[in-house]
Amino acid sequence: MTHAADQSKAWFERAAAATPGGVNSPVRAFSAVGGTPRFMVRGEGPHLWDADGSRYIDLVSSWGPMILGHAHPGVVAAAREAAASGLSFGTPTTGEVELAEEIIRRVEPVEQVRLVNSGTEATMSAIRLARGFTGRGKIIKFAGCYHGHVDALLAQAGSGVATLGLPTSPGVTGAQAADTIVVPYNDIEAVRRSFAENPDSVAAIITEAAAGNMGAVAPDEGFNAALREIAHSHGALLIMDEVMTGFRASAAGWFGLEGVPGDLYTFGKVMSGGLPAAAFGGRPDVMARLAPTGPVYQAGTLAGNPVAVAAGLATLRAADESVYRALDANARRLGTLLGEALKAAGVAHTVAYAGNLVSVFFTDQPVRDYAGAAAAESWRFPPFFHALLERGVYAPPSAFEAWFVNAAMGDAEFEAIEAALTPAAQAAAAASKPERP
Ligand SMILES: *Cc1c(COP(=O)(O)O)cnc(C)c1O
Repeated sequence: MTHAADQSKAWFERAAAATPGGVNSPVRAFSAVGGTPRFMVRGEGPHLWDADGSRYIDLVSSWGPMILGHAHPGVVAAAREAAASGLSFGTPTTGEVELAEEIIRRVEPVEQVRLVNSGTEATMSAIRLARGFTGRGKIIKFAGCYHGHVDALLAQAGSGVATLGLPTSPGVTGAQAADTIVVPYNDIEAVRRSFAENPDSVAAIITEAAAGNMGAVAPDEGFNAALREIAHSHGALLIMDEVMTGFRASAAGWFGLEGVPGDLYTFGKVMSGGLPAAAFGGRPDVMARLAPTGPVYQAGTLAGNPVAVAAGLATLRAADESVYRALDANARRLGTLLGEALKAAGVAHTVAYAGNLVSVFFTDQPVRDYAGAAAAESWRFPPFFHALLERGVYAPPSAFEAWFVNAAMGDAEFEAIEAALTPAAQAAAAASKPERP
């Protein structure tokens, strides 16, 4: 079964004329795997259909949000009903209060939230708030962690920045970069040293509650707890970025698995069910510094948009224990199939999990940080990816991204994935190292 992509090719040409690189977010362009990105026209349950009419089992799930699968009837109905009642008012609405309350109910350390439009806005605002609260300027982040495209947080970032091999980004000023201290993930001693070298000037540590943007790299046991302890002993805050893990890793996100409280949290992806909305929140004494109760300014014309809020609420309300059990089981099942196929083909690999995030690294060494992820034989990934794609399995188009299951996957999907993985693993085995990787 080969999937022709004539329509996608034609659309990609039109797209490239109208938009830089033909995409509205870099990883979508297939730069790291080559070939033509598929232009999707429809999704339902575990499947996507492209402009050529080919069907794919979706292991990207819109990079996380679609935990229930695509076009979930309850979520679509909620969005449709909200849309019919008016698209945006620029006033407080009842739905945004209910969504805020649902987030607060699920994640214990979060006592207040503010809704924004994207994960990037959430982390940008959380950083501003941490700086405003502490009166300090510097931020500690981890190499390979991605917190959206906030200027100060692009240094050694994960996701597309890692995929494209960019050290940071032109357009970020020296001053913005100078306030960002980057240390290796899972390296507590480096964090301690950074505080010692920058006395009384660090506002916050920002970390992915579990790293998912250099592939899935779980925090070592005790790592997050140590971050909290060190930050507090130096008068700094701990910002837990749960944009990816929030409401996916468990009903209460990574916090629900680990129980280490952050001072501030950022959310996105799952909480808005596939529409653009995100949030940041946390300790009430910190959140009180936000305008209009406090002096730290933050605002948004479309923040708390009623349609996005309705989709988010419907998603969270449908995401009961059985959904989280299915996500966990599907992640293990996918990881097991990945491991079996690569083992049978004799490819050195590590299947890594961070909760129900899964990824595969082409190395037999455990991956604890970005250096470890970067050391893997990522050149095996493009043929692996394309062998899957040709057989109707849509994996993330980058070796540095996690794979996202959804609860709509069933036996038929896993059988098709298993069948596609055998030739894909053989393609990975047959790959040869490029002259200059
Ligand atoms: C996706 C992501 C972001 C950015 O969210 P956007 O909605 O793409 O701006 C921030 N942090 C993490 C951990 C993410 O995975």
